[in-house]
Amino acid sequence: MKPLMVELGERSYPIIVAPNALADFPQICQENRIALPKQLVIVTNDTVAQHYLATLQAALAGYQMLVITVGDGESFKSLASYEHIMSQLIAANISRDAAIIALGGGVVGDLAGFVAATYQRGVDFIQIPTTLLADVDSSVGGKTAVNHPGGKNLIGAFYQPRLVVIDPNCLLTLSDRDYRSGLAEVVKYGVIYDPELLASLEQHSQAILQRQPDIIAAVIRRCCEIKAAIVAADEREQGARALLNLGHTFGHAIEAAAGLGEWTHGEAVAAGMIIAAKLSEQLGEMQTSEYRRLRQLLVDMGLPVTPPQLDPQTWWQYMRRDKKVKAGAVRFVIPVGLGQARLTSDIAPELVDQSIQQALT
Ligand code: NAD
Ligand code: MG
Repeated sequence: MKPLMVELGERSYPIIVAPNALADFPQICQENRIALPKQLVIVTNDTVAQHYLATLQAALAGYQMLVITVGDGESFKSLASYEHIMSQLIAANISRDAAIIALGGGVVGDLAGFVAATYQRGVDFIQIPTTLLADVDSSVGGKTAVNHPGGKNLIGAFYQPRLVVIDPNCLLTLSDRDYRSGLAEVVKYGVIYDPELLASLEQHSQAILQRQPDIIAAVIRRCCEIKAAIVAADEREQGARALLNLGHTFGHAIEAAAGLGEWTHGEAVAAGMIIAAKLSEQLGEMQTSEYRRLRQLLVDMGLPVTPPQLDPQTWWQYMRRDKKVKAGAVRFVIPVGLGQARLTSDIAPELVDQSIQQALT
C-alpha cells in the first residue's frame, strides 16, 4: 500500500499502516528508503515488551541492538526515566548515527522521542506505536515530552520521527478501556474534519469494537491522514493544529478535577466533546439532530457522554489552567455542524456554564 506522507519539507516522513508490520519492519524500512544504521536502540516498557519485543528483535536479527525498558505508566514519562535512558546510551557508547525506536504507547513514544531529540543534539527516531491513541495521535506530529511534578509535558521538544510504522494487530492485546479511550480521539477527527469518517464509524461500529484489523487499519489510516494534513499546515500549533483539542479544554478539567486516573484521557475528551457540541448547538452552529448523532456514536463506542457534577468555579479554575489559554482567555474549539470546527476565545462564560448544565441532563 502507498505510504501516507507527513509533508514537512526535508523533514517529511512516511506513515505505514499494515497488519503484521512489526514482523516486516526491516522490509518496510527498505521499501521506504530508510537505511537502518548498524546501532539500534529500542525503548519500550515491561508490558509491551512481553507482547511484542521478541517479534521485533527477531525481525531485526543481525543488527546491533540495545533494548531499554522503563516501567509501565504515565509516572514513567519523567526526567528520572529520561536520565535512566540517557545513562544507558552513554554507557553503551551509542553514536550519533544510531536510531532510536519507540515501541509502545504514547508514554514510551513521548519519552523516547524527547531522548532522540536531545541525545547528542538529536539522533534518528522511529515510532512503532502500540496503542490506538498512539496510532492515531501521539506517534504523528513530532510533539515529544516528559512530565514534571509541576505539570504534564512541561519539558519537551518538537522533533519529527523519520518513520512511523503501525501494526493494527498490536491492538488485539490492548485493554478495553485503553482501546475505547483511543476511539474518542478517532471520533474527534471525524467531528473536526471528516463527515465521511463519522458515517463510516457509525456504519462499522460493531466491527470497530471487535477490533477487526482491516476495518481498524482503514480507520487509523484516515485519522493519520487528517493529523498529517493538520500538522503539515501548522507544525507548531499556531493555528489549525489547535482544532485537534476539540473537547480537551473541558476534558482536561474533568481529568484533573476527578483526580488523575479516575477518568482516562479519552473518556474525558468524549464527555468534553459533548459539552462543546452543546455550546455549538446554543450558538446555532450545530443542529440538535447532529448533536444526537454524535452522542449516540460515543455511546456506541462505549464512551461516557455525561460529565461529572462540578460547580462552575471548579470548571473555570481547571479550564484556565489549560495550556491553550492565551493572554488569559480560555480558547474553545467549537464544532461547526459535524465535520468542521473553529477556534475562538469569544464566548460568553454564561453560555459555557449553560452548556455544561445541559450536557449533564
Ligand atoms: P500508555 O502509553 O500509558 O499506554 C496505555 C497502556 O497500554 C499502558 O499500560 C501500556 O503499557 C499498555 N500497552 C501499550 N500497548 C499495548 C498493547 N499493544 N497491548 C497491551 N497493552 C499495551 O498511554 P497512551 O494512551 O498510549 O498514551 C498516553 C500518553 O500520550 C500521555 O502521556 C499523553 O500526554 C501522550 N500524548 C502525546 C501526544 C503527542 O502528540 N505527542 C498526543 C496525545 C497524547
Ligand atoms: Mg488527546
